[in-house]
Amino acid sequence: MKSVRKLADGREIIYFDSDPSRVRDAVDTRDLPARSPASEMRRDPLTGEWIAMAAHRQSRTYKPPAELCPLCPSAPGRPSEIPESDYEVVVFENQFPSFAQGIPGSLSTVDGMPMVPSAPATGRCEVVCFTSDHNSSFGRLSAAQARAVVDVWADRTEALSETPGVEQVFCFENRGEEIGVTLHHPHGQIYGYPFVTPRTEKMLAAAEEYRAEHGSHVLGDVLAAERVDGRRVVVDSRHWTAFVPAAARWPVEVHVVPHRQVPDLVELTDEERDDLAATYLDVLRRFDRLYDRPLPYIAAWHQAPVRTGRDLSWLHLQLFSVLRSADKLKYLAGSESGMAVWISDVTPEQIADRLRAA
Ligand SMILES: [Zn+2]
Repeated sequence: MKSVRKLADGREIIYFDSDPSRVRDAVDTRDLPARSPASEMRRDPLTGEWIAMAAHRQSRTYKPPAELCPLCPSAPGRPSEIPESDYEVVVFENQFPSFAQGIPGSLSTVDGMPMVPSAPATGRCEVVCFTSDHNSSFGRLSAAQARAVVDVWADRTEALSETPGVEQVFCFENRGEEIGVTLHHPHGQIYGYPFVTPRTEKMLAAAEEYRAEHGSHVLGDVLAAERVDGRRVVVDSRHWTAFVPAAARWPVEVHVVPHRQVPDLVELTDEERDDLAATYLDVLRRFDRLYDRPLPYIAAWHQAPVRTGRDLSWLHLQLFSVLRSADKLKYLAGSESGMAVWISDVTPEQIADRLRAA
């Protein structure tokens, strides 16, 4: 059950409840300044990629003490972003969005340079709180809770796909201070971008080239080969397989791939969603056992663009960590940052061995 409400500054908040009779009528009592999203995006003329500039994000909440957590439910005298005193899963519009609706301005150029277009960063950014428990994590959710989050991702993917200006929907989670997380409360984010992202453009081009040559989908063929070989498979379930990609770039990296080609989370069946929740929890728990500490990670959902390349897309989750040992970080240095050429000092087969044993 979904209840759509408004926060004090007009942002939308959406409660998702397993109990259809649950009433969500708490009022946001905070005196919030009026919203004035002002993000701009400019296109890099040398690469053709868009860069979003959200200068207002500098003032966002940075590592608040637990008692001031904006993602915990509200308590008497301590209002948070969530007016209710409890919740299951809740989604709200980001207070400091990189992409938003209603940004003034129109397509223009930077200082009259025709090769550098600029435009309002139109889109939408949402925060997803997985649980009201401040000290939990996605990996510690029950199967039913994880399944509820899968449904929320699907719901938001559908909703953002219909939001004006949105061309691609990206569900993701950053976990851990090493990743740059500024709020410890377990949460993820959803971006509705006003363009197809560079990574997706590249994957679509590769899939198109592969299909022209082989008549099949590259990820489908990779999945089949990995499942036959088994060398890099971490979890092989009924509808999903989690494996370390043969050309992994991160010290810990796993792709979680559905056995059926679907463009996005919306298209998954109930059975596939149940199995995804179980498979994902299994992988996340292995992540935390790997170095015997909560592993910082990024979970990135690769979904089809809203309007293009849908038949060339194959939904999958890319899960990776910057930690190459219990206390050593992989830095993106000269080769990675300057040239986008990755150097890895572990083999994907070693990573798969460790994750299977974890
Ligand atoms: Zn909290």
